[in-house]
Amino acid sequence: MPVLVMKFGGTSVATLDRIKRAAKRVGVEVAKGYDVIVIVSAMSGKTNELVGWVNETSPMYDAREYDAVVSSGENVTAGLMALTLQEMDVPARSWQGWQVPVKTTSSHSAARIEEIPTENIMGRFEQGMRVAVVAGFQGVSPEGRITTLGRGGSDTTAVAFAAAFGAERCDIYTDVDGVYTTDPRICEKARKLDRIAFEEMLELASLGAKVLQTRSVELAMRYKVRLRVLSSFEEQSDEAGTLVCDEDEIMESNVVAGVAHSRDEAKMTLLSVADRPGIAATIFTALSEANVNVDMIVQNISEEGRTDMTFSCPTDQVARADKALAAAKADGVLNFSELVADTNVCKVSVVGIGMRSHTGVAAKMFRVLSNEAINIKVITTSEIKISVLIDRKYMELAVQALHDAFELDKAG
Ligand code: ADP
Ligand code: ASP
Ligand code: MG
Repeated sequence: MPVLVMKFGGTSVATLDRIKRAAKRVGVEVAKGYDVIVIVSAMSGKTNELVGWVNETSPMYDAREYDAVVSSGENVTAGLMALTLQEMDVPARSWQGWQVPVKTTSSHSAARIEEIPTENIMGRFEQGMRVAVVAGFQGVSPEGRITTLGRGGSDTTAVAFAAAFGAERCDIYTDVDGVYTTDPRICEKARKLDRIAFEEMLELASLGAKVLQTRSVELAMRYKVRLRVLSSFEEQSDEAGTLVCDEDEIMESNVVAGVAHSRDEAKMTLLSVADRPGIAATIFTALSEANVNVDMIVQNISEEGRTDMTFSCPTDQVARADKALAAAKADGVLNFSELVADTNVCKVSVVGIGMRSHTGVAAKMFRVLSNEAINIKVITTSEIKISVLIDRKYMELAVQALHDAFELDKAG
């Protein structure tokens, strides 16, 4: 029988009633003849609560125990979903990551899936089971410890299962009815897209649109998984939601496809570092060894052999970055006068494959921000995106002004 993967995010399994509603939707697909793999998130708010408990217990926690704790939310919903399906007379069984097993790397809290053997679940489908409910977000390391895939990781579990099982489609059920031109919660003119290209979705996700975890889009692109985002709260047709697909399957196209934002960014500047070969390598090796995810990097013009180096990273990694650079200074491998952190910035980005062939997008973006008197602190660009760091208090304003200026409320 054909296999379908259906993933339900936190709000879609937030209560027993919602689990029932999701289970009914699974029942509809089973009745159509699919064997279904259901991937569940933890009930909404649960993972945040678990992360909070870990931080309170141990601020510089052991990442293996962090994973042991934060993976547990998904175990509860997987069991409850299986029970709910059984109550509906749908043959179902739950699996935790290690039982499948979802084999991952051992980078705790940011593990990558390496392999998902299918025999175990396939064997059960052959014996008449119709639904395998799998706890999302978690796996098992080569050392046999529980791992997690990074926040939002159940999306990646879903796509990885779809690829491993050759599923006909991977449906991501969430609390919005598809992928929008920007976050509909901060821009009421945001427009739902019927289709979006993998590359644009990849950029939007990596720049902060949390509707899909970045890694899930990467996997879908690589393994040609038919990936759809849709609402678990509305009645659905086969055409509902947003299909993430190849560029050539899309008719409509605006130069800019969407605007993304990332709220919790920090800008850090190392003042007066030596301007000579090897210094950037020293700084960014120290940061990478401390697991700091550096995003933008700017090096200023040097004066008298000294320069300033600015980089951005998530606000919750500022303390780690601080510690790593101070240690490098204390060890004598790096010399700087001061490390200045600005933790009140955010990143706003415009994304579109049309930018490859159109000029003037950057100029227009900067003009729009200047008209709103928003100061740009750092700029980076790639072939299909432009990102700026600005003060966090202007985030909503910037997103709305850019959405208006690029007329994203209108189909191209
Ligand atoms: P889930 O719990 O189902 O995984 P998430 O909260 O992770 O859901 O992702 C859905 C949220 O993503 C939406 O509620 C919305 O606020 C946010 N979002 C940000 N950018 C976009 C976008 N471009 N299109 C749709 N949703 C977006
Ligand atoms: N529960 C995890 C989180 O909140 C994983 C997920 O929902 O995708 O990040
Ligand atoms: Mg999510």
